[in-house]
Amino acid sequence: MTESKRRIVIIGGGFGGLFTALDLAGGGEITLINEEDHFLFKPMLYEYLSGEVQAWHIAPDCRELLDNQTKFIRGRVTNIDPNGQTVSLADHKELSYDVLIFSPGAITNYAGVEGAEKFSLPFRTLDDANHLRRRMTEALDHVQPELEAPGNLRESSTAP
Ligand SMILES: Cc1cc2nc3c(=O)[nH]c(=O)nc-3n(C[C@H](O)[C@H](O)[C@H](O)COP(=O)(O)OP(=O)(O)OC[C@H]3O[C@@H](n4cnc5c(N)ncnc54)[C@H](O)[C@@H]3O)c2cc1C
Repeated sequence: MTESKRRIVIIGGGFGGLFTALDLAGGGEITLINEEDHFLFKPMLYEYLSGEVQAWHIAPDCRELLDNQTKFIRGRVTNIDPNGQTVSLADHKELSYDVLIFSPGAITNYAGVEGAEKFSLPFRTLDDANHLRRRMTEALDHVQPELEAPGNLRESSTAP
């Protein structure tokens, strides 16, 4: 089989998967599979949370970043069969591959800390940031308007 005919399937459209697809462009029949339709520049998720940037600044559509020859599938891979060289998607589609690149990133690790999962919020995706923003807004809505600012409180507590 010629290199250009190799079926290369990449699971995960994050830093690893997306940049591998860009580097391999033209080196085979490339298919990138990602759960989301967008790539996410995670180092700027904080700026998205604080409203300094918009979603489109840090989460461009994967299709816009890939060249025309690379096929993009939005979907969740649920099974890999290394013997049959196939991957299955949640919608029951199946894809055959000659080369498989596995780059699904990581999940939040609570490291066995008791209560961490229950009392903290994950911060890895746009949805996580949106959820956190809603929680912060709700919390601010409960602040009493007449409550003194912390600086004033400190000053008044040291006053004679
Ligand atoms: C808030 C935050 C800030 C960060 N800041 C920095 C920084 O400043 N500098 C730095 O070096 N690193 C930073 N990191 C770490 C950096 O983002 C990660 O190291 C990097 O994203 C890892 O790349 P990846 O391709 O392995 O995984 P990811 O970027 O997580 O991409 C994995 C992709 O695979 C997809 N996927 C997963 N499972 C499946 C499946 N079954 N089927 C289909 N698709 C699937 C996911 O949806 C995701 O799109 C930060 C991380 C976070 C969360």
